Amino acid sequence: MGLPDLKFTPTEEIPSRVSTTRKTFLEHKTRDVEFRLVQLRKLYWAIKDHEEDIVEACAQDLNKPRFETEVAESGWILNDIVFTSRNLHKWVKDEKAPDIDLTFKFMNPKIRKDPLGTVLVIGAFNFPFQLTMGPAIGAIAAGNTVVIKPSENAPRSAAVMQKIIEASLDPSCYQVIQGGVSETQALLAERWDKIFFTGGANVGRIIAKAAAPNLTPVVLELGGINPAIVSKNANPRLVARRMLWGKTMNAGQVCTSQNYLLVDNSLVPKVVEEFKKAYKEFFPKGAKDSPDYARIINDAHFQRLKSMIDNSNGKILMGGTMDEKERFIEPTLVQVDSVADSLCSQESFGPFIPILPVENLDEAINLANGVQSTPLGLYPFGSKADVEKVLSSTRSGGVSCNDAALHIPTLPFGGVGESGYGAYRGRTSFDVWVHRRPITSSPSWLESLLSIRYPPYEGKLKTF
Ligand code: NAD
Repeated sequence: MGLPDLKFTPTEEIPSRVSTTRKTFLEHKTRDVEFRLVQLRKLYWAIKDHEEDIVEACAQDLNKPRFETEVAESGWILNDIVFTSRNLHKWVKDEKAPDIDLTFKFMNPKIRKDPLGTVLVIGAFNFPFQLTMGPAIGAIAAGNTVVIKPSENAPRSAAVMQKIIEASLDPSCYQVIQGGVSETQALLAERWDKIFFTGGANVGRIIAKAAAPNLTPVVLELGGINPAIVSKNANPRLVARRMLWGKTMNAGQVCTSQNYLLVDNSLVPKVVEEFKKAYKEFFPKGAKDSPDYARIINDAHFQRLKSMIDNSNGKILMGGTMDEKERFIEPTLVQVDSVADSLCSQESFGPFIPILPVENLDEAINLANGVQSTPLGLYPFGSKADVEKVLSSTRSGGVSCNDAALHIPTLPFGGVGESGYGAYRGRTSFDVWVHRRPITSSPSWLESLLSIRYPPYEGKLKTF
């Protein structure tokens, strides 16, 4: 049996689908924690039942290798569900107020984790399952009703996601809307209690603007022009292997991959040599004939990447081949002479590895801060002291010291400044979807103590 086709949702259906989920929220169906856990359990088993469809969909959309799909798509979201379900009872518990006066203690102050309401999740194409279902899992766990809009640019994955969700989740609470710009705009015309968007900064701005009239809070998980900073004390073999991995996984279509490397002059020849070695080790027959190398998502992105390299003044040191028909771009190492080069100054979101030689760590830090002061990720390589120096003179969403693109699933993940705002993953995936509602209950017997707050105030200040 083949995979389902992606069918866009008729825009005229969108308001009623959204209002169904809103009505259900207002009926309090999703307040029940056991209900949420049952939904998550059903989702888990539906994903399990469709694991092969997920592999096939990612292969058709991105030529994503089975290993990458099982680790970073199906396996990832299954782990998310298990982690969330195991911890949910603990997370939903009321929190006691921290250190308080005795009078306030009698009011039994606490913080309740209330669901926000009816929320919208808009996904990106590169990890179509992980980046769409991950936030949705948190939203379900937190007791919201959820509308999910997968990326139309990964059409097979979007269709399989819909099949999984419709086979498992209560449709009065959870809906999938399929579509591109018009359908997303129709969604944005609705009123939401939170919008969680993963994608590029330009669309992120559109989302934030559309949310503003209703004061809808937004999480923006955007991209970044992520630098890797390689000091003279770095291990060239580790730099090459790890940085190559950051740009060959999903053919470099990873928001956390490094966009460019600033490498201490003295280390450049060795690093280049190690990149060539690592490339042979990773892809003995070349990336094109390897089952372990993805393709660029579509022609538009292929052409965008082609023009980036056409406009670069850099010198290709490794790779450089392309096949338009297959949307194949070889992992390509390029020595550039300025951060203004097209390969450094824009987010490539593809398998380019520009290297710029620098005099020292200070120059690298200054250059990196000049390209984008708040990237999504930052990758310092070197001694402990080098890494600390980089950490204390830069900003970024996250950092992997002496590594590439890595993010541990239980750490909060999100950008800062131009790479977005808000975070999720691990417990944060629950926290991001709740309102921490402070609650106090003043017993009637406390009235004698409380009477101090009522007018007339004369003489009362003295008692404090
Ligand atoms: P994108 O911004 O093109 O699309 C994301 C979503 O926005 C899609 O669902 C799409 O349908 C919708 N959309 C597109 N144009 C729109 C418009 N005019 N109005 C309303 N909605 C619109 O992003 P993409 O191409 O899917 O992903 C690539 C970008 O996302 C890169 O910049 C990458 O760094 C970033 N990204 C960030 C993260 C993260 O977690 N921070 C993860 C993956 C990708």
